[in-house]
Amino acid sequence: MAPGVDALRGRPLWQWWLVSGVVAGGVYLAMPSDDPWAWALYNVFGFASAAAIMVGVRRNRPRRPGPWYWFAGALALWAVGDVVYELQYFSWNWEDFPGPADVPYLLAYPMFAIGAFQLIKGRISGRDRAGLLDAAIVSTSLSLLSWSFLMRPIAIDESLGLLQRLASLAYPAGDLLLLIMVVRLLTTPGARTTSYRLVIAGIAAELVSDVGYAVVNLFTTYSDGLLDVGWIAMYLLFGAAALHPSMRALSEVAPDRAERITTGRLTLLAAASLLAPAVLTVQGFTDPSGIDWPAIALSSVILFLLVLARMAGLVARVQDQAAQLRALAHNDALTGIPNRRAWDLELSREMAKATRSGEPVAVALMDIDHFKRFNDTHGHPAGDRLLKEAAAAWRDQLRAGDLLARYGGEEFGVLLIGQSLETATAVLDRMREATPQGQSFSAGVALWDGREIPEQLVARADEALYEAKHQGRDRVKAAGNVRAPGLPRHPHPTVLARGGRAADRRGQLDEK
Ligand code: GH3
Ligand code: MG
Ligand code: MG
Repeated sequence: MAPGVDALRGRPLWQWWLVSGVVAGGVYLAMPSDDPWAWALYNVFGFASAAAIMVGVRRNRPRRPGPWYWFAGALALWAVGDVVYELQYFSWNWEDFPGPADVPYLLAYPMFAIGAFQLIKGRISGRDRAGLLDAAIVSTSLSLLSWSFLMRPIAIDESLGLLQRLASLAYPAGDLLLLIMVVRLLTTPGARTTSYRLVIAGIAAELVSDVGYAVVNLFTTYSDGLLDVGWIAMYLLFGAAALHPSMRALSEVAPDRAERITTGRLTLLAAASLLAPAVLTVQGFTDPSGIDWPAIALSSVILFLLVLARMAGLVARVQDQAAQLRALAHNDALTGIPNRRAWDLELSREMAKATRSGEPVAVALMDIDHFKRFNDTHGHPAGDRLLKEAAAAWRDQLRAGDLLARYGGEEFGVLLIGQSLETATAVLDRMREATPQGQSFSAGVALWDGREIPEQLVARADEALYEAKHQGRDRVKAAGNVRAPGLPRHPHPTVLARGGRAADRRGQLDEK
């Protein structure tokens, strides 16, 4: 039937369903509420919505049809409840509450919840701790609200018999269960498709009418048909959700979105957390002697713990990211060893430490020999590979506490603590011999005089490196003692320029 009509109207089936449903709903509302034909029409909505879901599953073929079967079952059960209710009302003259109709009505709630739960499970890949906690926070405050204003008045009502009281409590409890499922559905990361919105709107319509019914019942007995609008809307929206093609993506895992806490989410959590004190205030004003302190205290404790857990998750993530960022900022991407930034930091730190401990500090600058030629001969990627392999091979020659850093380009720095100039030179010689692919480097080593600033120490190592290059490369030169006694402790332009000048002279050397 459906595809023919579909093509005829040129409209998708779900729209066709909604439009005819709204028309039928209008007809129903126009009929007198005690007309048996009106009741019959009302029953059509319930059974048709269950049928529409089955049609939707057949047409759209979701990978996980489970939730839809639960929804269809729940809607059908509700429709059965409607029929039984009408029989109670028209034929059986059943006056008491609860009646037989309440059995299918109440059974439908857990079925809805199971369907929603399966839907939620399908949308989460692995863990969704943040979403779960947010949903728990909102659910806790909604539970307090529902308890305080809907359930507690029933629970403490002495005029009700036990069965009456239990059945009366079961409806708001069922609604609360559905509400929690909606909140959880809203906090899942999956795709927000039309079908998703229709399901949520369907449950919301049901909840509005149910809560309206409960509130009306607190004051009078229900008679008017206005609340039927919500229940009819629920039937129609659920049917449309299943008929819409996007229902397939409803229980699919969404691609991971960057988890950000939005202003909306923060506002919602703030409002949820403030609900317990708000309820307390309302009770304090209206009925100070009847303050429901156990419920308010319990929900406050749960809320605080949940908010704390949420905060702990956020802090842990920020700390993780800070650590990742630090690693990124301090490591050279090509070789994986510390970069110039880390070198500068570490050098100052170690020198400050050595001022106190009195340990010797040796600094070496290394520069691969004829690296330009290597690049020209083997290509730039091979040059990159050499840099990587060399860094690893040199690193192997050092102790854990020693620092090897990429100073820039094909230049590296070594920082050795607690070693004499002779030992440092020997270590560098060992590293030189370990250079892979038959390549070599030249290096200059300088021992800290205990007073130089880092730049001055490095500049002396650089001068020694220049010497090593000048004398024919593939060697390690130790820097002599500081030539000018009483060097300034603060950077001095002529001293700082030395490294640069030495580098320039190396450049001139090349061109020769
Ligand atoms: P010298 O023995 O005098 O040091 O000669 P050289 O050719 O090694 O010296 P120079 O400093 O003039 O050249 C360094 C070259 O290193 C220039 C540049 O193309 C190359 N280089 C710098 N960084 C990288 C890099 O990350 N990857 C590759 N493949 N080459 C680099
Ligand atoms: Mg160089
Ligand atoms: Mg070089």
